[in-house]
Parts: sequence; structure tokens; C-alpha cells
Amino acid sequence: MSFEEGDGGRGPSNDGLPPLREVIAAHDLAAKKSLGQNFLLDLNLTGRIARTAGSLDDHDVLEIGPGPGGLTRALLHAGARKVTAVERDSRCLSALAEVAAHYPGRLEVLEGDALKLNPIPGLRRPLRICANLPYNVGTELFTRWLTDPVWPEGAPCPWASLTLMFQREVAERITAQPGDNHWGRLAVLSQWRSTARIAFEVSPKAFTPPPKVWSAIVHVTPLDAPRFPAEAKVLSQITQAAFGQRRKMLRQSLKQVSPDPMALCAAAGVEPTARPETLDLGAFCALARALSDQRAS
Ligand code: SAM
Repeated sequence: MSFEEGDGGRGPSNDGLPPLREVIAAHDLAAKKSLGQNFLLDLNLTGRIARTAGSLDDHDVLEIGPGPGGLTRALLHAGARKVTAVERDSRCLSALAEVAAHYPGRLEVLEGDALKLNPIPGLRRPLRICANLPYNVGTELFTRWLTDPVWPEGAPCPWASLTLMFQREVAERITAQPGDNHWGRLAVLSQWRSTARIAFEVSPKAFTPPPKVWSAIVHVTPLDAPRFPAEAKVLSQITQAAFGQRRKMLRQSLKQVSPDPMALCAAAGVEPTARPETLDLGAFCALARALSDQRAS
């Protein structure tokens, strides 16, 4: 099921706040390409994203890039206990202050760059992360959440779910299976200790301004334990080295992380002449364990 086109934010709101198109005009929020600003103005769509996140009334929510506040409003309207939102564009703050006033004590906006400002350690649990991510920092943030140092092996995951808008091609890379064209680093990291699925696709027409490509909402839930043991940081390094040079054999590409890639492959039971797209999740975790052992010896 996909979301094709909504009312463009002109329709009446369901929350007593002005329609988003009026908010954008009143606060002079012309979208900036440099900040990845493709706004969602249709409350049917933002409501659907909030519902995809799961139950909210017993959860806090972290949102990255609230912009004029469309998704923020949907999350609060759906009953989120509290939303903490990190926004880099100071022009959006006055519009968001109106949302905060409408939902007293339930919206905190932090001005800053989400790549530098990580409020997760201080946020109340259970915590869901829900965002229409800026495309230029989306995969970096996603990778960080999956390999967060506050989520070492055996510890509970800091978030109960991730519900995130990505370009559709990125969503396909996150949910790809071994052997698929899109199988790569994002699929390995997201499937190692979580389950990721595409909830629905979103037409470019649903955004203002419309991007060139389709998007998709990805919903990720953590597993109780990883599918295979490995250190998150080391798995991240192995996949970066292997897929960063995906045409090369592992004995070549893994030189970036190990002085002896042949011994690494032997210890992991992996052919050194293999290319990364032929390896499954278990093989990457075996390589990560072998690299941890090599470093420890
Ligand atoms: N949530 C809004 C919506 O759905 O209409 C806006 C989404 S828009 C795709 C991305 C938002 O992220 C923009 O508001 C932009 O200013 C903000 N943004 C861009 N880079 C950021 C960063 N590094 N840290 C925090 N926010 C950022």
C-alpha cells in the first residue's frame, strides 16, 4: 500500500492548530534544499506514520527534524507521552513553540544538529524514534542508532522502535536479503539485532516541495538478542570496509581493518576470494568476531 497524494496541507486540522500551509506562510518557512527540507503537510499521512510507530501514550518519542511540525503534531495528537525534537533550522522554532503551547509539557524542542546533539541517553524509556529524516543525514543517524555504544551486547536497546522516512532505494537497502541487489552494509547492520520492514511507500507528490524519487516508511524493532554474537563497532567497521569496495575480494578490501585479512577470513571460515554481496549475516558476524580476537591477541 502506498500514499499517493494528500490535500497538500490545505485541509482542516484535527488538532485545533492551523493548517500546515498557513503555518508555513505565517512563519515564512520556504523549504531549503541544503537542509533536506521536503515537508509533509497532509495530516492523513502524518497520522498514518504516527500509527505505524505503534502505541504512543505510554512512550516518549524522539523526532529528528520536526520542521514546521506536521509529524510532531501527529505524534502528540496520537497521544505521545512526550516528544523531544531536534531541529537545526532556527526559523522553525516559533512555529514549534505554538505546538508546544498547545500541548503543555509534552513537546521539548532542542535546536541543533542531530549529528552532534544526541539526547537519547537522557530520555525517558520506553522511547520510540520517529522522523521524516533529512535525506543528507538519514543513513548516518540510522547507522548510529543501530550501533549505539549505549546498546552494547546483552544490554537492552535504548529504543523500542524506529519509524523513519527514507528515500525508497535506501529503504530497500535496509530491508534487502542476501543475494538481493541491495544487500549491503545497511541490511547487515539493521538485521543483525532488529527486524526491519517497509511499512508503506510514499509518492513524491505527498511532499512540499516534491523530491525527485519515491520514499518509504521503514519500521524497525529490536530483537531481544542479536542473531549472531558480534561487537557493534567491529561489525560496522567490517561492513564498511567490505562494502566500501564491493567489487574487490575480501582479502583485498579487509586490508583496511586488518593487517592479516587472510588469517581473518580463515578464522571466520570465509573464502578470502569471496565478494561481500555473497556473504550472509552469519559470515559478517564471524568476520567481526575474528577481527575482535585478532585485535585482542
Ligand atoms: N518533519 C518535517 C515534516 O515531516 O514535514 C520536516 C522533515 S524534512 C524532510 C527534514 C527536517 O530536518 C527539516 O526540518 C530540516 O531543517 C531538519 N534538519 C536537517 N538537517 C538536520 C540536522 N543535521 N539535525 C537536525 N535537523 C535537521
